[in-house]
Amino acid sequence: MSTTTGPDVLTAIAGVPKKLLVDGEFIEAASGEVFATINPATGTELAHVSLAGVEDVNRTVIAARKAFHGEWRGASPLVRQKLMLRIAELIDENIDELALLDSLDVGIPLSKSRASVLTARDNMIAYAAAARTIRGSTPENSSSPDMLTYTRKEPVGVVAAITPWNSPFNTAIGKIGPALAAGCVLILKPAEQSPLSALRLGELCMEAGVPKGVVSVLTGDGNTGALLTSHLDVDKISFTGSVETGQEIIRASAVNMKRLTLELGGKSPNIVFADAQIELAVPSAAMAAFTLTGQFCAAGTRLFVERRIHDEFVERVVDFGRKLIVGDPLHVETDLGPVVSQEQLTKVLSYV
Ligand code: ADP
Repeated sequence: MSTTTGPDVLTAIAGVPKKLLVDGEFIEAASGEVFATINPATGTELAHVSLAGVEDVNRTVIAARKAFHGEWRGASPLVRQKLMLRIAELIDENIDELALLDSLDVGIPLSKSRASVLTARDNMIAYAAAARTIRGSTPENSSSPDMLTYTRKEPVGVVAAITPWNSPFNTAIGKIGPALAAGCVLILKPAEQSPLSALRLGELCMEAGVPKGVVSVLTGDGNTGALLTSHLDVDKISFTGSVETGQEIIRASAVNMKRLTLELGGKSPNIVFADAQIELAVPSAAMAAFTLTGQFCAAGTRLFVERRIHDEFVERVVDFGRKLIVGDPLHVETDLGPVVSQEQLTKVLSYV
């Protein structure tokens, strides 16, 4: 098998800051604690990164609050847009490295993580446009038509973004982009399984000129996430992850009535009728379920097939599945990489 060319694995890992991004600086956790991030394709440790605890969370929220009321508050939509476009450029310049980091951390085949980083770059460009178009309205007053009323959109404040491991870089951009467009400040808490691309993204934000404290990155586990969701000076949580954690976040957020954006797990069916174009429907139905080794919220994990074609269709999907190459995410021929962790493997096998 040939290996995809691109940045060297060791160089890419060495290039990632392994500390917490707080107030524009990469610093160790106050406790000095670290955790290992594992390559699921080999089971070996990729790196040790800092584990943020209560002191780190408090320090980061204070810095983020200060940044929110600082020069960032006066940054015009144009300034924010330019900054975001610069981040998009830096993503573009580092696509191969960012894709490699997600492939190493999660086991996503390299071609797929590259496509995902490209999408993230394009999304950042779209969010940059949004910085100029988020605005209120000026309707005529309904009881006095000669009067105008107006609404103004203002940034919510300090946003904590908690992300899962299945599409780390793209999901992080889906949170940072809207927050910067709106003039918020953001604290990113990536999943413990996939911290590397988030740390590198934090560094790229600094390189782009994002003011200190506007984007922070706190690597850590569920406890780090919980410290953010219950923090009294965090205004909003944007969370992507499991339904159970989403429920905990709703409860924790009640302490100060945080605003919430929750993107939780799905269970989506595909429906195939007898008059479908079978040649197209078979790979679509199969890859709807198998892409990213089935580890994504919109996976078509159920398949409803019209009885008339049921047996033939199922047989063809099975045949398609058998031909997929499961293997090393860094090999160009690989269709499917490993599941993300031993824990996840055990869980999936228990379903089987
Ligand atoms: P999964 O089961 O897919 O790993 P989770 O919902 O457990 O999904 O995790 C998604 C993200 O939520 C991760 O960043 C994780 O560290 C974080 N997290 C886990 N538990 C909590 C919690 N109680 N409060 C806040 N964040 C949490």
